[in-house]
Amino acid sequence: MVPRALFPLLQCPTCGSKQLYVIDRAVCCATCGSVYNVRDGYIDLMPRGKQFAYVSKYVAEEEQLAEELDYRELAPPLLAAGVRNRALARLLQFQPVDTVLDNGCGTAKFAAWNADRVALMVGSDPATLFADAAVERVALAKSDSRVLPFVDNSFDKAFSIDVLEHFPRDVIDAYLRETARVLRPGGRFLAFSNTREPSRLQPLIHLSRRLGQWFVRAGWYDFQREERRKSDHIKALETWDDVLEAMDRAGLRPVQIVFWNTVFTSFVEHVVMKLGEVVLGRSPVPNAGKPAQDTSLATGTLREIHARQRMRQRLERKGVVYYALQVITLLMECDLWLFGRMRCGNYFIVVEKPITRTEI
Ligand SMILES: [Zn+2]
Repeated sequence: MVPRALFPLLQCPTCGSKQLYVIDRAVCCATCGSVYNVRDGYIDLMPRGKQFAYVSKYVAEEEQLAEELDYRELAPPLLAAGVRNRALARLLQFQPVDTVLDNGCGTAKFAAWNADRVALMVGSDPATLFADAAVERVALAKSDSRVLPFVDNSFDKAFSIDVLEHFPRDVIDAYLRETARVLRPGGRFLAFSNTREPSRLQPLIHLSRRLGQWFVRAGWYDFQREERRKSDHIKALETWDDVLEAMDRAGLRPVQIVFWNTVFTSFVEHVVMKLGEVVLGRSPVPNAGKPAQDTSLATGTLREIHARQRMRQRLERKGVVYYALQVITLLMECDLWLFGRMRCGNYFIVVEKPITRTEI
C-alpha cells in the first residue's frame, strides 16, 4: 500500500530535495522535476538517471525469480523465519508509536508480520516481489538502499534480515550510512546476517548435514532450491570484527548481540523438515498438465515449492501440522537461548544511532 502517512517521510532520491508535491498517483520533485509513480501496491522511488556498478541478483533476474521464489502467499512465521521474526520482535521491542523501516525487505514478510504492532511499517527494496499480505499492510517503496528516498531522522527503528551478506563492502558502507541517516538519534537498527566465522559447535552441526547428505545420496531429497537462494552470498564482512568496524564507520553503536549457532536448527532443516517435505510433496504436482513453463525449474525445486503450497494449505487450517511446526520453531530457537553468546557466523546485532549533544 501507499498510505498518506508515507509522504511526509519522503525526499527526492535523485537530487535530495524535500520539495515534493503529490499529484494524482504520483509524487513529483519541485527541484529536479522527477516524477515517482504509484504502481500496483507500491511507489517507485528509484533514483532517476543513475547507474550503479552493483545490482543484486533479485533485481537482475526478477522475472525468473518471481516464478521460483513462490513469494505471493505469506505463510505464518515458522521455522527459521519464525526464529528470525521472534528475535526481531524481542530485540527491537516494537511500540505502537514507532515508524519502522524494513530496509531491503524482499517479499516484505517480516514487515507484514509486524506491521500491526507499529504506527507505520515501511518496506523498501529495489525488486518488487512483494507478498500480497505485505501489499495490504506495509507501505512499500521500490528504492535503492544506497540513496534512500527518506528524509534524515525519520525512523524510530529499522531492520535488515538476510541482506548484508549479498553486498560488496562499498555497498554495505553506503547501505549502513543511509540507514544511519534516516534513523532518528537514539533510534535502533537490527541486522541479521552472517560472516564466514565457523561455530565452535561445528562438529555437532556437521552431524546433521552428514545425515542429510546421506538422504540426498539415497535419492530421498536434494537442496537445489537452497543452493540457488544462497548463490549470490558474497559475505564481504568475513569476520565479526569486520561487522563491528562497518557499524562503527556508519556511526552506529552496538547495544545487543545474539549469535545463532545452528545446532538444533541444522538438525531440523537437514533432516526433520526435508523428510516432512518428501512426505507432503509426494502427491502429483497441480501444474503437471502444462509442462511448458515448469521445465525450467528443477525437480527438487518443484517438489519443494509444491510441498510448501500444501504446507500452507494445512497451516491455514491451524491443525496438528501448524502446532507441530510451532514446537519445532521453539526447538530451533533453543540455539539462541543456549548458545547465543558463543561467537559464530550467524548473528543478530542491534545498533543505536547515538544522540549528539546538540540534539539534547
Ligand atoms: Zn529531485
